[in-house]
Amino acid sequence: MKKYIIVTGGVCSSLGKGIAAASLGSLLESRGLSVTMIKVDPYINVDAGTMSPFQHGEVYVTDDGAETDLDLGNYARFTGSPLRRANSITTGQIYQEVIQREREGRYLGRTVQVIPHITDRIKQRIFAAGEQEDVDVTIVEVGGTVGDIESIPFLEAARQMAHEIGHENVLSVHLTLIPEVGGNELKTKPTQHSVKEMREIGIQPDILLCRSPRPMEEEMRRKIANFTNVEYDAVVSAYDVSDTIYQIPLQFHEQDLDAIVCRKLAIECNEASLERWQHVVRVYREARETVRVAVVGKYIELADAYKSVDEALFHGGIANGVRVKLVKIDSERLEKTGGVSEALADVDAIIVPGGFGGRGVEGMVATARFARENDVPYFGICLGMQVMVIEWARNVLGFAEADSTEFSPDTEHPVVSLLEEQIDVRNYGGTMRLGASDSILHEGTRLREAYGTERVTERHRHRYEVSNRYRERLSESGLKLASTTPDGSLVEAVEWPDSPWAVGVQFHPEFGSRPTQVHPLFDRFISAAVDRLRRSGDGAESRAGEAVGDVVSGGPN
Ligand code: GLN
Repeated sequence: MKKYIIVTGGVCSSLGKGIAAASLGSLLESRGLSVTMIKVDPYINVDAGTMSPFQHGEVYVTDDGAETDLDLGNYARFTGSPLRRANSITTGQIYQEVIQREREGRYLGRTVQVIPHITDRIKQRIFAAGEQEDVDVTIVEVGGTVGDIESIPFLEAARQMAHEIGHENVLSVHLTLIPEVGGNELKTKPTQHSVKEMREIGIQPDILLCRSPRPMEEEMRRKIANFTNVEYDAVVSAYDVSDTIYQIPLQFHEQDLDAIVCRKLAIECNEASLERWQHVVRVYREARETVRVAVVGKYIELADAYKSVDEALFHGGIANGVRVKLVKIDSERLEKTGGVSEALADVDAIIVPGGFGGRGVEGMVATARFARENDVPYFGICLGMQVMVIEWARNVLGFAEADSTEFSPDTEHPVVSLLEEQIDVRNYGGTMRLGASDSILHEGTRLREAYGTERVTERHRHRYEVSNRYRERLSESGLKLASTTPDGSLVEAVEWPDSPWAVGVQFHPEFGSRPTQVHPLFDRFISAAVDRLRRSGDGAESRAGEAVGDVVSGGPN
């Protein structure tokens, strides 16, 4: 029998439901089970592609080109779950599908209603994922907070699932908050109310994950168990972690969460083996050096806008045995007030991530110039790579007006442009390039050295390309065109010739990095940062421990 776990959240948002669900997934995988993860988002948008990063954080792109919620990135970092379009469900999609069927006359004249038609469609989507041959457990994270009007159809669908295939096959895990009030007293009342709300819609939670600032005492867990009708052992203390979010699978395991889930779902499987996670936490704790990496972007105010980039930098730190401190710099501020060299004076490496629209781009161009002229390791991702090309064309080729047509449609030197504006390639026309495709890495490049292979598959999300009309001039002046699409028609990566490490990629390597298996480009980038730190002699002692309590990627957030 296939097993399903429905993860809901209570009391308030931002309790880390995605990380909790993903941590549970990783624990089950560590017992040899095959897990698939689904995120349900109750909003009406069909996908996250049209949402501003300020609204909703990073858009996570799947191999098959779906633009999804950033929680899929958490799933990718904690588990090996396949993540495709089908793993992200929104209210918008469900309604779109139901309305489409209604227009096709497939409801045979019946009145189409939330129950049963919307809820049926939700169940079909979840069962379709869970019934795949190689899936043992499907974990469904329901976005939002219990009590929200818009999540009701999803919770009703979850209730029906348990009724239809049996409570022993559908487990309800509810994440709540135990706030600290009046000094240091932890309060259980919001949790009691939240569970009451769940029960009103017909779902008795089987397991509670209680977020609190510190571990809960036994007495408090007994009280919660008693009031909520949840077994004592299944009241898990999800207390704040001191070092990194990657401790959470271990924290849950110490309280037997995986064993409790397996017992309740009657799953027979191996003991958990968690060496990989223990290794990540140990390396982080023992790291004595801290590299400072500037993240220069246009969505800096929102902590989650570059989530996968931040995490991949942390993974690079683990791979190199150092801590990574992110120095987040708003590129628009650099553009308006200057001060690039002051802002970047004591960083060990610079990364410019992706983005859309012209705001703040000049600050990124100035950043790229600073990195190139001062031999600071530089990593450009998507827009960050286009910026490298623009800066090179302006300052090395001497095309002062060089730009992307995204920002200056009438520029005299459109070194980055839409394909349809280019004379020699026409067949990709104007639409966004989304999802995984192959690139060929040229010999003698940093890229080839990092990946150790000629052909790689990476995900894309962009419209503009390095212009083929400028390819010759760029490469003759020394910019390395380090990678192209297999047919040679599009530039996929560039490198500065004499820099210690400077790579720009049109694709998004950050989506493929894991704490337990860093992406090779982030590994090499952080390694270059470490080299710079050690050369500057500023490292070990003076920076030791500085990261604790600071903005540290992968840290408790
Ligand atoms: N705005 C650029 C483009 O569309 C870059 C996109 C990105 O960084 N993801 O090509």
